[in-house]
Amino acid sequence: MKGFTTRIVHSDRQEPIEHGSLQKPVHATVAYGYSDARDLAAAFQGTKPGYTYGRQVNPTVDALQAKVTRMEGGLQSVCFATGMAAIGTTIFALLKAGDHLISSSYLFGNTNSLFNSFISHGIDVSFVDATQPEAVSEAIRPETRMVFVETIANPRTQVTALAEIGELCEQRGLVYFVDNTMTSPYLFQPRKVGASLVISSLTKYIGGHGNALGGVVTEMGQFDWAGFPNIYDTYQKGPSANWGITQVKKKGLRDFGASLGPEAAHHLAVGSETLALRMERQCANAAAMCRYLDAHEKVKAVYYPGLSSHPQHDRARELFRHPGALFSFELAEEVNIWAFLNQLEVVVSSSNLGDNRTLAIPVAHTIYFEMGPERRASMGIDDSLIRISVGIEDEEDLLTDLEQAFQTAG
Ligand SMILES: *Cc1c(COP(=O)(O)O)cnc(C)c1O
Repeated sequence: MKGFTTRIVHSDRQEPIEHGSLQKPVHATVAYGYSDARDLAAAFQGTKPGYTYGRQVNPTVDALQAKVTRMEGGLQSVCFATGMAAIGTTIFALLKAGDHLISSSYLFGNTNSLFNSFISHGIDVSFVDATQPEAVSEAIRPETRMVFVETIANPRTQVTALAEIGELCEQRGLVYFVDNTMTSPYLFQPRKVGASLVISSLTKYIGGHGNALGGVVTEMGQFDWAGFPNIYDTYQKGPSANWGITQVKKKGLRDFGASLGPEAAHHLAVGSETLALRMERQCANAAAMCRYLDAHEKVKAVYYPGLSSHPQHDRARELFRHPGALFSFELAEEVNIWAFLNQLEVVVSSSNLGDNRTLAIPVAHTIYFEMGPERRASMGIDDSLIRISVGIEDEEDLLTDLEQAFQTAG
């Protein structure tokens, strides 16, 4: 099998493209016409391949799905309008009232909010410390169907016990749903730890340019859906490895309609071609910035799996190609957080992550504000915590920017 980047940049050519185009064109269409109406019926019934309606399928989106499937080494992918749509739709399509989901408590804030909504709709969720596999095993009940984790959590960068939880899910017949957004398939392939389904926000590293939203769920082909009680009879056709993702597509994407548009799919596909190049640079920049901050007298703490002081440093080394391009740090008392952030010239105050630009956010005052001070304290979110999503700028410029901000603000 060819290397990671070779596979991505030549992915579209695996299918013939009109006029020999090297890029899959943007198919700005909702509907598809058939000269023989029987072929339209066959496409609906799934007896012949064919496009039906833009909410479910589009050739440009299909090409991106094939690309992500190649990146993850999976079986089949389904794209969504956003990463949140991918998570919400998948869980809605696969779980029902009375089921139990075990989730990491170190969770992207909106996913946490979404899971609390599921609780009020009858799907129970236990939030556990997923850096400890025992916490997951102790939470398993007869009605547990799925375990949801992130690879590296944001903003405090906890690293999940990915391999141990994978073994547990296999032994207990649970769907293992892994959010690979923070690592991307370049740093880590959840297939290797037994993931059943992988979700990525395409908005972040895969798209990489902060110019389009998208999400994707990939079936790894490692879970036997024949043993899963919630698959509708109509989707129990063909190899059982495909039943889950078919139900996600039909009951989830089709019925909810959070579909990815072809223009966004094109932006994301073009962005994905440089994933490996960008991540190499972003991870190297992150390591340099963390070394600098870790040694700085005006910094109280740095959270980055690449530092040997990080509690899951060894685990991160074993699992990931690099320890990621996102970190957070706490300022010493005497540094005013607003003065520091406003003094930065290269680093931008912004909420996104995975962009080519380096972005900083004061965590307690923004993405964790809604939680209130007590919940923040229990999660170890200090008022001075700044999350940095590292971009591809020149290392020297980033270090100089931090230094001049400390000098002025400190
Ligand atoms: C951003 C993010 C999401 C949600 O993705 P959107 O495309 O913004 O909806 C989910 N999980 C993680 C880990 C994220 O960082």
